[in-house]
Amino acid sequence: MDKIRYLIIGNSVAAVNCVRSIRGIDKANEITIVSDEEPFNYSRPLLCYYLGGKTTQEKLAFVDGDFYERHKVNLILDKRAAALNVSEMEVALDDSKLLSYDRCLISVGGVPIVPPIEGFREDIEGIFTFLKLKEVKRLVGYIERAEIKEAVVLGGGLIGLKAVEGLVSRGIKPTIIELMDRVLANTFDKEASSIIEERLTQGGCKVIVGDTIQGIETKNGRIARIFLRSGKELATSLLILAAGVRPNLELVKGTPIRVDRGILVDGFMSTNVEGVYAAGDCAQGIDFLSKTNAVIAIWPVAARHGRIAGLNMCGMRTEYPGLFAMNSVQLIDIPTISFGMTNPLEELEYEVLKNLDKGKGVYKKIVLRDNRVVGVILLNCAERAGVYGMLIREAIDVQGFKDQLLRDDFGLLVLPKEFRKHLVGEVGLEV
Ligand SMILES: Cc1cc2nc3c(=O)[nH]c(=O)nc-3n(C[C@H](O)[C@H](O)[C@H](O)COP(=O)(O)OP(=O)(O)OC[C@H]3O[C@@H](n4cnc5c(N)ncnc54)[C@H](O)[C@@H]3O)c2cc1C
Repeated sequence: MDKIRYLIIGNSVAAVNCVRSIRGIDKANEITIVSDEEPFNYSRPLLCYYLGGKTTQEKLAFVDGDFYERHKVNLILDKRAAALNVSEMEVALDDSKLLSYDRCLISVGGVPIVPPIEGFREDIEGIFTFLKLKEVKRLVGYIERAEIKEAVVLGGGLIGLKAVEGLVSRGIKPTIIELMDRVLANTFDKEASSIIEERLTQGGCKVIVGDTIQGIETKNGRIARIFLRSGKELATSLLILAAGVRPNLELVKGTPIRVDRGILVDGFMSTNVEGVYAAGDCAQGIDFLSKTNAVIAIWPVAARHGRIAGLNMCGMRTEYPGLFAMNSVQLIDIPTISFGMTNPLEELEYEVLKNLDKGKGVYKKIVLRDNRVVGVILLNCAERAGVYGMLIREAIDVQGFKDQLLRDDFGLLVLPKEFRKHLVGEVGLEV
């Protein structure tokens, strides 16, 4: 194999999967990873358990301690890639060191969205985002030092609710402020959100929807009070900003790399600049369901992006078929799954099947387009989720067994025989 220098910026799930792909094919050439964070590796979805005191930093790692050594990766930690020069094919680090590459992967993730808030300054004590371990460690230190008993969380999306879960585990009572008319509005519908809101309220949280923070007041340099757009006021000494994440485009600013919401990539995870690839939360790749380019900032998508990018970077031309939004999370003790288009706007085009048992908090919703499943919500009944995910991925025509989709025992065995054979894919293997 020719001499190729691989350079990966960012060291999270897209990066790790890119390394796995490269080393599956190219055992020898040099791989360098640059991360501006100090820990060797950690999983962002587990940060809420660290906040809640339920796990340690060591247990946040999603690869073994010797992963980088085994894969012969030169890991540079705590250094930021400050400038990318695509014509010279080199990256300057914040200590001015230059790294040359033949293939570069940008997997720099997202940055927190901080909405305009009157009186906000970054140095105010008691205000945190919830994206990085360093910040969460600072948050834990503050909670312990200031003996925090209540908090305000701006944003009732996935990250906000995960922060809430961590706070509740610490015995802190949070108030959630969400701009939309319900929590988890991006992935859930009214019924699903109301089950979560009810459980939050039972657990001692307050939920304020259709409102946002307009201004804040400080006392001795610390957050003391927040003012809502509705005119309400709340006293608090802890504010977590979790209003969303946008792709981190800092490194590609001023380069010829094309961006829209995120860094635009083709089906091979390549940007428009030869030798430069992008993956994960910073990339805007193909969405399996809409067939357009979209930012889908979730773990499984970042992992798949990284894997496909790695294959293409070492010459194994592999097309990314696109993925769809999918979330599988335990929220306030409720196992939840959502896949694809859970909340279609143009309702005429879609058929919706629902089953709600409010008493038990069990909810199942299936969204169909042209007799194909394109969206699923499952609350407290997530056991057979894989089968629904497969129906979406394989675009299976469900007309013949549509009436079975909401059944409690719906699973592979309920599918007609010809489908089961097709899915198992082995001649003669019966299921
Ligand atoms: C609190 C929280 C909970 C989540 N829960 C879930 C969940 O339950 N399920 C799910 O599917 N997804 C969840 N996500 C989203 C998931 O974590 C992300 O989709 C995933 O981590 C994206 O991986 P990535 O490889 O794109 O990069 P990221 O994980 O975003 O990491 C990018 C890395 O690049 C570094 N970096 C940035 N700029 C530079 C630079 N210039 N030089 C060097 N390094 C740089 C960053 O510091 C960071 O370490 C959650 C996210 C958060 C924050």
